[in-house]
Amino acid sequence: MSGSRYVERSAREVCAFFEDELGFVEISLPNTQEIVFERTVELRRNGEPAGETEYAIRAYTSVSRGSTRKAGEDAGRVVLIHVPTNAPAWKSKRAHRTKNFLSAMRNRCREAWRRAASMPRCPKCGSAMAVRWNKRDESEFFGCVHYPKCNGTRKVV
Ligand SMILES: [Zn+2]
Repeated sequence: MSGSRYVERSAREVCAFFEDELGFVEISLPNTQEIVFERTVELRRNGEPAGETEYAIRAYTSVSRGSTRKAGEDAGRVVLIHVPTNAPAWKSKRAHRTKNFLSAMRNRCREAWRRAASMPRCPKCGSAMAVRWNKRDESEFFGCVHYPKCNGTRKVV
């Protein structure tokens, strides 16, 4: 991979990027040293804000305060969380901490936003859905967030 040289990122630089530029807030999660940011996506119904939060975009930066991890251990990633169940609804590819790390993270956040805005409803129970991966034919599909209680699925079109 060309241009893949590891670039150190400071906590201050990463915080400024996510908070000031992307409007995320830092959250604290148990069992992790890395700095994590989140931005909620307001649910819209018929184009109008519905005053509810269904999904949140969570950015795991691989950057920790104080200690620095070695190259190779650290790649950022973005996860779309279904807030009521705290379950992942979509996961980005890893973003390596190279020169383009922050723009790669921004692109992943944008994709999460797009996915949240276009997520269908479960055909069986009307609940939110999550992007799932069919290992057999390596394709994506939507599955109900209440699986295994509900096994509603939809094809990705
Ligand atoms: Zn369902």
